[in-house]
Amino acid sequence: MIDFSFTENHQAVRDMARELARKVIIPSIKDYDRANKINPELLPAMKKANLLGFCIPEKYGGLGMDYISLGLACEELEYGDTSARVVLSVHIGLYSLPVLTWADEEQKEKYLIPVATGEKIGAFGLTEPGAGSDVVGLQSTAVKDGDYYILNGEKMWISLADTADYHLAFAWTDLEKKKKRDHSGLSAFIVEKAYEGVTVGPIHGKLGVRAGDTGWISYQDVRVPKENLVYKEGQGFKIAMFCLDQGRYTVAAGSCGLIKACRDACVKYSFERKTFTRNIAEHQLVKQMIANMEAGYEYSTALWLKAGWLKNQGIRSTRATSLAKWIACREAEEAAANAVQVFGAYGFSDEYPVERFYRNAKGASIYEGTREIHTLMQADYALRLRKDTPLERDLPEVEQ
Ligand SMILES: Cc1cc2nc3c(=O)[nH]c(=O)nc-3n(C[C@H](O)[C@H](O)[C@H](O)COP(=O)(O)OP(=O)(O)OC[C@H]3O[C@@H](n4cnc5c(N)ncnc54)[C@H](O)[C@@H]3O)c2cc1C
Repeated sequence: MIDFSFTENHQAVRDMARELARKVIIPSIKDYDRANKINPELLPAMKKANLLGFCIPEKYGGLGMDYISLGLACEELEYGDTSARVVLSVHIGLYSLPVLTWADEEQKEKYLIPVATGEKIGAFGLTEPGAGSDVVGLQSTAVKDGDYYILNGEKMWISLADTADYHLAFAWTDLEKKKKRDHSGLSAFIVEKAYEGVTVGPIHGKLGVRAGDTGWISYQDVRVPKENLVYKEGQGFKIAMFCLDQGRYTVAAGSCGLIKACRDACVKYSFERKTFTRNIAEHQLVKQMIANMEAGYEYSTALWLKAGWLKNQGIRSTRATSLAKWIACREAEEAAANAVQVFGAYGFSDEYPVERFYRNAKGASIYEGTREIHTLMQADYALRLRKDTPLERDLPEVEQ
């Protein structure tokens, strides 16, 4: 059976996120983007709207909604600004859903419930100054010392680094395996920002996501209780890849919001701007750019919905998610570049939002697996050099 309709719950989440974008994000985004500041009203508004844990089970403080709802909320928030969608990508995709799946009950009590209710914020620390795509190139170490692990290392390009209370951080627990670049020596930990030896700071001069918090984290001899090891030693790589499966999904859905924002801005402007005595909407080459946005939005949406459907069934979605993320980000980049083009010189100024869309779209082809990494993944699936088998643990199946 193929059913393209959204449930009442889906529509309710979409409407709520849409309203938040229209009321809280869009009216002031130009100022916050210019000031390189996170809107102080954003997180309280997301908390009030129950958006910070809505697809976490009720037992752990959420609303128990499905993963399609998560995608719809991401699309609506990114219609407002990418920085708002990044909050859901990180807080839910990269932190809460992995903690729900891999952490034990005591950890969920302490580190999931307050995050799902929005009392606390989660972040994900994988990338380091010398290692992004090459995860086993990371240098952080966590050496066992009695009831603690002593964590040392530097994390870079971490979304919500300063805002978050808890980080899901990755480090080598087996130093011999580190030398051999054997990923079964990596482990995952929940680290509290309040622990002694944790310092965070902002990254200045970003191209995009300027209204978002992107920063660095330094861990210097941080004593992390052994109870904060997530799952087992040596499972960090597997957990990191699982995190990315959820984060990439939110980026794919969010990118559709960006494409739609480009299309809507261009449609409006095309009826306002006249050249050669006609609205530019009547020029075929302008129509071509708008038609591409329309097509890009539709097929990118179909791809993330397929990934979301797999997630709802509890079926591993790594392949579908990677494809959705790669294509949606590619289409968003193209849509934003064309949106600037449709606006002509006005697109080159921040008087209109399309230059912000253009700068924001670039980031999504870099984070959560670069364009090149997803291209290689898709080629390897097609060439049968790569195959997904069911994971030891996956997202809990949910009803739509
Ligand atoms: C706005 C923003 C937010 C971010 N948020 C987070 C976060 O919250 N947490 C986190 O851990 N990280 C985060 N990141 C980091 C992000 O995930 C990395 O930047 C990304 O994984 C790429 O790594 P890199 O920048 O080190 O590039 P590199 O890995 O150094 O790659 C450089 C170039 O080489 C190419 N390349 C690399 N390897 C190959 C290969 N095998 N074949 C072909 N080409 C290759 C890449 O595609 C790229 O073009 C964020 C980044 C940005 C920009």
